[in-house]
Amino acid sequence: MAECLFCRVVAGTLPATVVHQTDRVVAFRDIAPQAPTHVLVVPRDHHPDAAAMVAADPELAGVVLAEAARVAEQEGIDRTGYRIVLNTGPGAGQTVFHVHAHVLGGRPLGWPPG
Ligand code: AMP
Ligand code: ZN
Repeated sequence: MAECLFCRVVAGTLPATVVHQTDRVVAFRDIAPQAPTHVLVVPRDHHPDAAAMVAADPELAGVVLAEAARVAEQEGIDRTGYRIVLNTGPGAGQTVFHVHAHVLGGRPLGWPPG
């Protein structure tokens, strides 16, 4: 998917500030952070959204969550609390159609989100 933004990050052809990577995911800082820590955990495989990923490869969904938790530990926000967000569909604010988990923390996070 050469035209997909996050496939390009995964391929290394679009620069990103990578904070963690494995054989299955790449985690990098969001270009427009909404919190002191705002990291995107992106599977290397292209799936358009969370529902498509879990339908095609349910194990990968677990991997993405596990790596999101690992990023939170690495960023030092696991003790204060953090939010993992998977916007799914334009109505929920999804703008990049390569599934990604936002890991947000480092400040108090209200609920419900705005
Ligand atoms: P969503 O709205 O859930 O699809 O999230 C897409 C996120 O990707 C937004 O928070 C953007 O700020 C972020 N984003 C877009 N382009 C880049 C990029 N080149 N590098 C890092 N983050 C990006
Ligand atoms: Zn992609």
